[in-house]
Amino acid sequence: KQLGIALVGLGGYSTNQLAPALQETENCYLAGIVTGTPSKIDDWKKKYDIPDKNVYNYENFDEIANNDDIDIVYVVLPNALHAEYVIRAAKAKKHVICEKPMATNVEDAKRMLDACNENGVQLAIGYRLHFEPYNKRVMELGQQQVFGKVKSITANNSSDMTSKKPNLWRLDKELAGGGSLMDLGIYAVQGAVYTMGEKPVAVAAKYGEVTKPTFFHDVEQSINWELEFEDGVKAKSNSSYAEEQNELSAEAENGWWNVSPAYAYEGKKGETSEGEMDYPNIFEQVNQMDSQAESFRNSEKSIVPGEMGLRDMKILMAIYESANAGGERVVIQY
Ligand code: NAD
Repeated sequence: KQLGIALVGLGGYSTNQLAPALQETENCYLAGIVTGTPSKIDDWKKKYDIPDKNVYNYENFDEIANNDDIDIVYVVLPNALHAEYVIRAAKAKKHVICEKPMATNVEDAKRMLDACNENGVQLAIGYRLHFEPYNKRVMELGQQQVFGKVKSITANNSSDMTSKKPNLWRLDKELAGGGSLMDLGIYAVQGAVYTMGEKPVAVAAKYGEVTKPTFFHDVEQSINWELEFEDGVKAKSNSSYAEEQNELSAEAENGWWNVSPAYAYEGKKGETSEGEMDYPNIFEQVNQMDSQAESFRNSEKSIVPGEMGLRDMKILMAIYESANAGGERVVIQY
């Protein structure tokens, strides 16, 4: 059976990536929508053939418990709202996919995971890069030590939102939980961790200069940090909302690799010390949701489970703790 997905929040990511991807998935399909904006409903119903009974708003959302068409709720709201909707979905006994970052603090991430466990439903995070050939190759190169042990990592993810019209919630600490780190830096953290295949033990971080104060008075414009792994390997990273950077690279004992862009939806390119990486660019959200639906169907954890989201929240919060303390080394508590 194809599992039915309901998208919660019909903003940019749902509209431009997830809904189109759900037209190509095999294990799941777009069965319903949850929106606070009534003017969007007609277009979505027509475009995706969604029946009235599968359309919800934020008030009647809990009634989704009685709807057998919906097996999975996919939460695509501003970060601070993830916790409430994941927990309500779990109580409605639906499996949940939650967008990154999982939450805006460790406490919420734990509550989300607990709610899913208590209600016997699966929780996965929208970490699409785990389903994509270039990043999968990076995991292999690093974790299987194809060029020997990794000696150092560079992972940067930045996007100049000041040149476009930014979503205002991304500049609001209450809703976003933070700035460039929460939105973009999380990919660099993930990249370093899946290159190593282990959790970092400590971090040192500093905020960058604020050059665009009209945008960045509540959340950080940029931040740079260094993750430290058990055997002393370091991963250096930067994320900024006011420049363009997109790379995941590493030096190993007997070679190196560099994927750039590494985190973009399209156009990924990469090179190793042995030559060009030649993989297809795929519609990665299709593979992501198909794989997640397949694991839910088999009552198995996704390869990007809620536990991974919680781990990453702990890392992100340690990065902020260090930056707030002016760059002091912080041991990450798991
Ligand atoms: P967006 O601003 O385009 O959409 C947010 C949606 O939430 C809008 O439809 C808005 O109406 C709705 N909303 C409900 N309550 C709101 C409130 N109180 N304030 C503001 N908006 C409210 O954002 P987006 O880019 O679609 O991001 C949504 C989530 O998806 C975020 O968590 C983001 O990090 C994540 N995301 C993930 C990826 C990825 O590649 N995995 C890409 C983009 C966004």
